[in-house]
Amino acid sequence: MSDAMRVFAGECTTTFEDRIQRGHVVVLVKPDRTVLVHDADGYQPVAWLTRPDSLTVEADDAGFGLTARTTERTLRVVSHSLAGRATYPVSEAGVPVGRHPETGGTLVRTRGSVVDLESDDEYPLVSGASVLDETCPQCGLPTMRVERGDVFEVCIDRACDPLDDAVTERFDREWACPDCGSDLRVIRRRGRLLLGCDAYPDCETAVTLPAGVAVGDCDCGLPVFETATGRRCLDGTCDRWAE
Ligand SMILES: [Zn+2]
Ligand SMILES: [Zn+2]
Ligand SMILES: [Zn+2]
Repeated sequence: MSDAMRVFAGECTTTFEDRIQRGHVVVLVKPDRTVLVHDADGYQPVAWLTRPDSLTVEADDAGFGLTARTTERTLRVVSHSLAGRATYPVSEAGVPVGRHPETGGTLVRTRGSVVDLESDDEYPLVSGASVLDETCPQCGLPTMRVERGDVFEVCIDRACDPLDDAVTERFDREWACPDCGSDLRVIRRRGRLLLGCDAYPDCETAVTLPAGVAVGDCDCGLPVFETATGRRCLDGTCDRWAE
């Protein structure tokens, strides 16, 4: 639980654009400042403002007042009588993918990572990775399937069983630089895997290893990759690649 949701309830006046509404409502304030005002009916809030630029909250034992603003809109909620207020832990809800071997916590896959709901530990996934049912023989965390020229199945913890090492072992010096003929080396820059020319800095050729599998060779000497969007030369700008 890395974040908190604030909940306010009471008989309130809600003012949004030209609309004024009064009634018993529940106001949710998300960690990203998104404000939702719910009344008794349906799933839709009676008013809301997603990620406002500013949010001010005044609250005491007698009541509360909230003002959320974007450049164009203002949402204001003022209580006349207070039913209650509270703060609850919230996280991103993801798909369960197993248990953490040490904390016993449930692991969930969110957009870009696997998170342990018990400890909040986060394992960022590389793009295109899918989490597998199998666990890592070294640490017990789930493994992931990643395509980077070939199919690799490695621990989701890049510190345990680095994808980088597996890709390096397989593809370091596998291909020649199309510009100068030196070997292409597997390098990691800002979390991404690239093939960079061994003659750097004299030759600055570097290409990102996309999510895909090498299925042949381009006229330029680089491999052709089968990716989710089709086949292409490893160098996306290659002018010698013809389908
Ligand atoms: Zn592991
Ligand atoms: Zn080069
Ligand atoms: Zn090419």
